[in-house]
Amino acid sequence: MLKILNIVLFKSSKLIGKPLNYSDIFKSYLNKLKKEGRYRHFNEIERKAGNHPNAFWISESKKNDIIVWCSNDYLGMSQNKLVINSMIDSVKKMGTGSGGTRNISGNSNAIVQLENELANFHLKEKAVVFSSGYVANESTISTILNLLKDAVVFSDEKNHASIISGIKKSKASKEIFKHNDLNHLEALIKKYPAKKPKVIIFESIYSMDGDFGDIFGISKIAKKHNALTYLDEVHAVGMYGKKGSGMAEELGLQNSIDIIQGTLGKAFGTMGGYIASSNIICDAIRSYASGYIFTTALPPALVKAASTSINYLLKSDKERKLQHKNTILLKKYLLKENINFMDNKSHIIPIMVNNPLRCKEISNILLNEFKHYIQPINYPTVPVGTERLRVTPGPLHTEKMIYDLTIALKYAFKKTSKNNYSKIA
Ligand SMILES: *Cc1c(COP(=O)(O)O)cnc(C)c1O
Repeated sequence: MLKILNIVLFKSSKLIGKPLNYSDIFKSYLNKLKKEGRYRHFNEIERKAGNHPNAFWISESKKNDIIVWCSNDYLGMSQNKLVINSMIDSVKKMGTGSGGTRNISGNSNAIVQLENELANFHLKEKAVVFSSGYVANESTISTILNLLKDAVVFSDEKNHASIISGIKKSKASKEIFKHNDLNHLEALIKKYPAKKPKVIIFESIYSMDGDFGDIFGISKIAKKHNALTYLDEVHAVGMYGKKGSGMAEELGLQNSIDIIQGTLGKAFGTMGGYIASSNIICDAIRSYASGYIFTTALPPALVKAASTSINYLLKSDKERKLQHKNTILLKKYLLKENINFMDNKSHIIPIMVNNPLRCKEISNILLNEFKHYIQPINYPTVPVGTERLRVTPGPLHTEKMIYDLTIALKYAFKKTSKNNYSKIA
């Protein structure tokens, strides 16, 4: 039957004009990336529960033991026994899926509880959970900007793609301020009348440079000009503050931020995203954000695992301390071997290569010859000419692993030092 239908369709439709080759169009875009050395290759990994940061790298159907250095599972919580058991127990009790959107039968007791916990965690009245941190940013930002009508948004130039996408989806006018530059931000904000709705969006830790957003300085400007503040704490939740709720907590500035956004997918080792804010703002988001309303709710078992992870890190700072210790240790070794990295006070160590082809080659040498996995970071994630290896040492890397990595890096830098990498425009 289907076959007949296909033949009829094929015979009855006559092509008008010269046929357009759709594949060629897409192919030309892929070739452009290949020529510029930024075609993305996704390494295939099989993680080993209880054995992080060890994993398998699957190449040509063979499994190779590797050590992962670029994971956002910063504290290894995705393999924490309590978190694993909480997910298994919940699956057995409640099944795998949530069964619907939040509106239609998917509003589990588990997700409601998690939202209450997240609100307390950030000292806010309420929280709203989304499918991911990306969706939380995109949906919340576009929704608040549209509800505020005629708003202007001030966005740090280094803000994440999900923030940029949220801004683009809104009708607000936008001003991009130079990274963490308070004078520039204030000069831009001053151009607008007091009555115009204003939103300032920034991050507490910038993931590719590992530097901190100036929460105090930006909050002060926001207060002076009556602007709302939106802070992406994705790289800080679980990692900073006594309770592990982020940089705003560490600095005692939760009250100066109107909307805090976070992820369950990085330090908490699960998946999902959220915002924490006032009752009114959360209610408005819940009621108007289509990225919240028209999608299946997170499965209860995933939510339970996230909740277990948050509550664990709220009480235990053993992981944070060890992580910090290992970051310092790796930096010490890198300094000793004269390997150039961007120094900062966070848990992220960007090792600078500054050429996309060399960056990729060093990463390949580390993986193929030494079994150390660090994904190269190229444009557009970072500006052209600042390509790097972004290393995130965790609490479970050993001193020997850190030492071995340093020696491997030294070798790879040396081996590629004489190559002539044509300059990429
Ligand atoms: C990873 C990331 C996100 C998105 O979070 P996911 O939960 O991975 O979707 C948002 N903001 C920043 C700064 C990020 O690095």
